[in-house]
Formats: sequence, C-alpha cells, structure tokens
Amino acid sequence: MSLWRRKEPRPLTPEEQKKAELHLLFGEDITKNFPIRGGIFSTIKGEINAVDKVDFFVNKGDTLGIVGESGCGKTTLARLIMRLVEPTSGTVVFMGGDMTSYPKPLLREARKDMQMVFQDPLSALDPRMTIKNIVGEPLFVYKLARGEELTRRVLELLEIVGLKKEYLNRFPHEFSGGQRQRINVARALALKPSMLVLDEPTSALDVSVQAQVLNLLMELQRSLGLTYIFITHDLSVIFHISDRVAVMYAGKLVELASTEALFSGPEHPYTFALLSAVPVADPNAKRDRVELTGEVPNPARPPLGCRFHPRCWKRGKICFTEEPEFREIHPNHFVACHFPLGQDRKP
Ligand code: SF4
Repeated sequence: MSLWRRKEPRPLTPEEQKKAELHLLFGEDITKNFPIRGGIFSTIKGEINAVDKVDFFVNKGDTLGIVGESGCGKTTLARLIMRLVEPTSGTVVFMGGDMTSYPKPLLREARKDMQMVFQDPLSALDPRMTIKNIVGEPLFVYKLARGEELTRRVLELLEIVGLKKEYLNRFPHEFSGGQRQRINVARALALKPSMLVLDEPTSALDVSVQAQVLNLLMELQRSLGLTYIFITHDLSVIFHISDRVAVMYAGKLVELASTEALFSGPEHPYTFALLSAVPVADPNAKRDRVELTGEVPNPARPPLGCRFHPRCWKRGKICFTEEPEFREIHPNHFVACHFPLGQDRKP
C-alpha cells in the first residue's frame, strides 16, 4: 500500500460510484494470501490463498448469507470486509467509500457503522468486566456517553436484546450461552451501526437457543433497519434468515443467488451436494443425495482449473485446466462452473 493511500481515501471510479449508489456494501476481486514461513530465519516458503477474487454486494436492509464448509475462507472474508485483516488486493466499498484505502482515523469512524458479532459468545466477552462495562465500552471509547447517561444507554440496549436491568453488574460467567450472545449483540448495537457482520453467531448454541437468537436478530433487523452479513455452515439457518446466499468453496465464491432461487434450483454441483445433505422431516421424501468424496483442497496448493474438480461428478476435460468464470447465468444468479446444472440435476 502506497503512502498517499494511508493519508487520503482513494476516490471511487465513476463505475464504482454508480454501484455505491445501488448497494450499501460491495466487494470486488477481494483476495487474501497468508505467507507460510519456515526455517530458522522464518523465511517465506509459500502462500495460503484463503480468499480468491471474491465479488459480492449487499443492499440496505438485506441479509446476505455466506455458507461453506469449515476452512473455505468465509470467516477470513468477514474479517476482510471489516478490515480486521488487510486484503492482498481488491476493494471493499461501504457507504460510498473504499474501506481498503481508509487511513486509521477514517477506518475507526467507518467501523461505527459496521460492527461484528463473533462465533463464541464467551470468549468474545472479557470475564473480568461487568455487563455494564462490556456493553458500554464502545460508547466510552468513542466518547459518546459517560456516567449516568452511559448507564441509561446500556439499560436501553439490554432491553432491546431482551435482558433484564438487574443483570447490569453481573459478569459473563453468570449467563447462559444464549444470554451471552444477546450481550454481544447489545454491544454491537451500542454505536447504532447500519450493518452487522455475524460470524456463526448461533453455531455454539443449543438448537432451542439458536432459534431464540435468530428470531431476536430478525426482529432487530425489522425494527432498526439493519443490514446483515450472516456467516454459517448451517443451510437451514441460512434459509431462515437470508435474502441472498453466497456459497464459498476453497476460498472462491462458487454461487450467489436469492435464497429462493438457490434452494429451488442450485446451479453449481457443490451447492447441489450441500443442499442434498440437509435433513428433511419427511421420511418418505425422495431425494437425490450426493455424497462428496475426497477432501477439501489444501489452500497452499489448490487444484488447477476448477478447485472443485477432484470431487465433482459433472467435471469435463476443461475443468482440469481452466478456472470457470463467475458469471450471471440467470438474472441475479451467478455461478462459477463450466457446466451449470440447469435441468440436469441428477448426479
Ligand atoms: Fe464441476 Fe467443472 Fe463445474 Fe467445476 S467447473 S463444478 S469441475 S462441472
């Protein structure tokens, strides 16, 4: 990154400005390579390509679900969006500005509008701090409230997430998993953000508690007009909460469509395999179950051509050598595959 970029944000190109008017957030060509170091001098021996040329957008008030197996790069993508890790290349445009070019003070301001909720509700909370201090911390750090005003705002936030005011001076270990995640949500809402990046917020919770937290998030979205990026490996959760779904595989976005289009007509063989593995309540329901064989590829040495080809039953010769382009095959339905499934859905 050049020095001028650290002092001034990069002005958007006319094309980017047009997109920024349409979408609250969009990313183009987002890539992250982590160096592999080794030897006594810790020299760079190779690279892990965690996220590769990802394009997406999110509209105001919508929920974009990001789904994929463990290690596919979805959490890294969330961190890149928040700029908690620096991208190797690509842009993230949020509320009309390129976040990747923001100097620190501007980034700090931008983060008021984009907050994150982490997967493990307990480790995200400092065990030595009371709930009042945890939820009030962003208000204190950003100098937005002190003393009685801070207490009043914290009580307001606790009420919004369905927690009692008596909890104010308790510590995180005194709460259940669901209550802890509510505390995390309250903290994330303290600065009145426009968008929340939710990184597997329900995966560490019991199923009944998961439903409560999901319903809370949906209720908050309606009442506060929030926009969500919701990361999970659970397709039933994605179906319940998302307006659009992005499917990731080995660092790449392989399919992006509205929830309805993706669940009723997946075009990428990997999406089809994921959906075929979702349990259904009807024991008589007939399904074309696809059991994927083989392992997720090593991100330090991804396969040539399509990254999914070692596990794909639809692969052709071209899949071994040429990477498929991420293209729009139906209106607002994008897929990276040489042979999208179309009507031919049988494995
Ligand atoms: Fe399968 Fe080829 Fe499509 Fe990759 S590009 S998913 S290998 S058919």
